[in-house]
Amino acid sequence: MATIYLFDVDGTLTPPKTTIHPQFGSDFAAWMEHKEVYIVSGGSFVRILNQLGSKIVNQSAGVFACMGNIFYEQIDQVNSRGYEEWRIVYENDFKAPRDLYSHLDATVNASAYPIKTGKHYEIRTGMVNFSIVGRNATMEQRKAYGKFDEEFSERAQIVEKLKREYDKLDFDIGGAVSIDIFNVGNDKSQIIERHFEEALKHNSIIFVGDRIPFPGNDHSLATALRQSPNGIAYEVETWEDTVELLKTPPFA
Ligand SMILES: [Mg+2]
Repeated sequence: MATIYLFDVDGTLTPPKTTIHPQFGSDFAAWMEHKEVYIVSGGSFVRILNQLGSKIVNQSAGVFACMGNIFYEQIDQVNSRGYEEWRIVYENDFKAPRDLYSHLDATVNASAYPIKTGKHYEIRTGMVNFSIVGRNATMEQRKAYGKFDEEFSERAQIVEKLKREYDKLDFDIGGAVSIDIFNVGNDKSQIIERHFEEALKHNSIIFVGDRIPFPGNDHSLATALRQSPNGIAYEVETWEDTVELLKTPPFA
């Protein structure tokens, strides 16, 4: 039985929202050789490329970006300019309820958190990424919000409230400051039925993520995999945990 490896990016291969540690980057690229490895992230393809670098991305069998809402597969050829060619295998649209965005604006205004930097939501393929502190926040401001949220669980409360109002939407607490919003079912678990259903019957599929407990954005995929005798999910807290994990079976 062959093994297929799936890795989350933020908090699993890299510090949240940052590029991979250079030494780990080259070690991980070396580890990937002769293995079937996929990347499964909430970020866009370009962001994943910026975070992991082209060596890791080109060595992967495919990239599930935007929570698995868009899947890029590598075509086995290099184009005339010397770049690896990728094709989009599938791509989902996000269907927003009519009043969703005004509701998100109202949620920002109602928050007791004092620092709001603007750009509170970003529409991505098949999903919306929402944050109270806003996408213009500096690294320091993001960290400060992360601390606030740890203490007061603001994101969990927002999710609970939004969930009551929009039953066709699902919500994940992703990254350090944001909430991912998507149509029910269009979370990371969708990659199983859309791509790995057949593979899971004959291969062992191993996923590594840092947000496996509910309502983390790795929860749905870990749960889907654990329903199969061939699926395994490992939880890490930081990318340094992943470094250690890769030294042990079934990784080493
Ligand atoms: Mg993560």
